[in-house]
Amino acid sequence: MTAEDRSAGPPGPGAGVGPAAGADPRRPMLAVRRLVKSYGDVEAVRGVSFDVHSGEVVVIIGPSGCGKSTTLRCINLLEEPTGGTLRLDDRELDFSARRTLPSGRDLARFRARFGMVFQQFDLFAHKTAIENVMIGQTVVRKVPRQRAHRESRDLLRRVGLEGMEDRRPRELSGGQQQRVAIARALAMSPEVLLFDEVTSALDPELVGEVLEVMKDLAREGATMVVVTHEMAFARDVADRVIFMDQGQVVEEGTATELMESPGNPRTRTFLARYHRGTQESAGREGG
Ligand code: ADP
Repeated sequence: MTAEDRSAGPPGPGAGVGPAAGADPRRPMLAVRRLVKSYGDVEAVRGVSFDVHSGEVVVIIGPSGCGKSTTLRCINLLEEPTGGTLRLDDRELDFSARRTLPSGRDLARFRARFGMVFQQFDLFAHKTAIENVMIGQTVVRKVPRQRAHRESRDLLRRVGLEGMEDRRPRELSGGQQQRVAIARALAMSPEVLLFDEVTSALDPELVGEVLEVMKDLAREGATMVVVTHEMAFARDVADRVIFMDQGQVVEEGTATELMESPGNPRTRTFLARYHRGTQESAGREGG
């Protein structure tokens, strides 16, 4: 599936995940440049640059600890980068110039332009599925309750949870809870969706249902940056795959280029190790 295929489809309801009307289609919606994040002596991200165009799905792969999650968290300012620049549509932030950085309400507004879904879904345990989806709308966006309820019900239907609106998280499987978390992110009409290893905490048999929801969003034209170890998903859905190692982008290309004929030896080693791992676990499962 390419960005062209997807943009030919109807716009997805509520995937406010997309460009402003009249935006220049050649200009990336999100531009990350020389992004750096250090924790004391640890340089988690060391000069990462990439673009994300509207409607594009960019998948970031790489070994554990290479800085994928930190990169995502820097993009929506859950972590404050140590250096570099970030541009989302018309808003440019230069982390070497503090005056360009948002704070207070402005920071909250900037963050709300991204919908982030985490490995741990962190739903409110005492609230129902629909209340979990509504809460950002009613509290942050001040959407009237009735409208928030209607929109949240539609979003739950969209992630395949019709009829489960009134269940509490403990009455839902991990895969269903993660789909509530995706609906919750969509409820804020984000421009870009960030997925951080969202299937890693799930039992293997529940992974597919969450990936299907993500594939639907991609098909509907959502702009997505996805950190994942699901290589088949990356191959099928990504417009572009970025391979990171040791805090840096090592290689970037279409899914076919990068996954079938990687140019860099580090990418080849990672993918070979990954394929060996899946064959070994398939062998174990086979007896
Ligand atoms: P990945 O998502 O690729 O597994 P991370 O972005 O989580 O990698 O981590 C990159 C590096 O930064 C790792 O060495 C990790 O230990 C370090 N790191 C991440 N978060 C913190 C933190 N809050 N404090 C100190 N070091 C951190």
